[in-house]
Amino acid sequence: MINTNEILKKYNIRLSKQLGQNFLTDINIIRKIVDAAEVNNDDFVIEIGPGIGALTVALADRAGKVAAIEIDRKIIPALKETTGNFKNVSIINNDILKTDVHSLTACWNKTVKVVSNLPYYITTPVIMMFLENNFPAERMIFMIQKEVALRMTAKPGSKDYGALSVGAQTAGDVKLLFNVSRQCFIPKPEVDSVVIRITPTGKYLDLIADRKIFFQCVRAAFSKRRKTLLNAISSSHNLRLEKETIRKIFASLNLSDTIRGEELSIEQYIAFSNIVTNLPEHSGTEKYPPTP
Ligand code: SAM
Repeated sequence: MINTNEILKKYNIRLSKQLGQNFLTDINIIRKIVDAAEVNNDDFVIEIGPGIGALTVALADRAGKVAAIEIDRKIIPALKETTGNFKNVSIINNDILKTDVHSLTACWNKTVKVVSNLPYYITTPVIMMFLENNFPAERMIFMIQKEVALRMTAKPGSKDYGALSVGAQTAGDVKLLFNVSRQCFIPKPEVDSVVIRITPTGKYLDLIADRKIFFQCVRAAFSKRRKTLLNAISSSHNLRLEKETIRKIFASLNLSDTIRGEELSIEQYIAFSNIVTNLPEHSGTEKYPPTP
C-alpha cells in the first residue's frame, strides 16, 4: 500500500481542491473496488484520475492492462514511481473529457472496464460521456458523491428523478454498491461517497430514433422544475416546438397537458422524442453522434 503522506511530501505535492483531489488511503476500500470490478487478466482497465496511484497499483496487480488518465502534470512523477514495477500500466497526462477513449482500447480484443474514484466536479459529464457514446465497457465502477448516486438511480415521481436519472438508466443498469466513510481519504471530502456499478446495456439506446433530440428533450423537461412539461419543452431554444404541436404529441401518447417532467418514465421520454424526431421541422437535424 502506498504511503500517501510520504509520497506527497517527497514530491512536494499540494493537493488541489479544484481538481477534486481526495486520495484514497484505505486498503480495504481499494480491494472492495477492485473486487466489484471483478478485474482479471483479460481486462483492459481505464482508470480516470489515478492521482498518486493507490487504486492504480491494485488494478494493475490483477488486470491485463491499465490506462491511467491523469490531468495534473505535477502528480505524474510520483505516479510513475508508485506504478514503476508494473509494466502493464500506461500513464496518460490528459483531461479525460478530451481523451479519445475508444481509440485507446481499439486494439484490445478482450474485455474493457472503467474504474475510478472520480473527481466530484466532473462526475456527471464523465459518466454521460461513456454512456451516451456507447463505450463498449463490460462494467464501470465509480466512486461518486452519494447525492449524485441517488439521482442516477432515482425512479419517476421521486424528488431525485431528473435528467441524470433518465440519461444513466437509458444507457445502463445502475446499482449502488457500498458507502465509503470520509475517513478513508486524504484530505477528508466535504461530501459522502458511495461506490456504484454501471452495466452498460444500451437496451433503451437502440429504441431512440435520434439521441441528440432525445437528450435535448430530457434536458429541456428538467430545466424548469416547477413548470409543467408543456411549458418546459416549449421554452427550449434547441427544440423550437410550438405549444400546439406539443399538445398534439401529448394527446397521441395519452399524456395530460399538466404533466411534469418528473412524472414521465424513460419509455415515455423515448416515445415523445421519437415523435419530435419525425416532425417535418426536425428532419434535417444533425444526427447524434455526428457521422464522421
Ligand atoms: N485515484 C486516486 C485515489 O483514489 O486516490 C485519486 C482520486 S481523486 C478523487 C481524482 C483524481 O482525478 C485526481 O488525481 C485529479 O487530479 C484527477 N482529475 C481531475 N480532473 C481530471 C480530468 N478532467 N481528467 C483526468 N483526471 C482528472
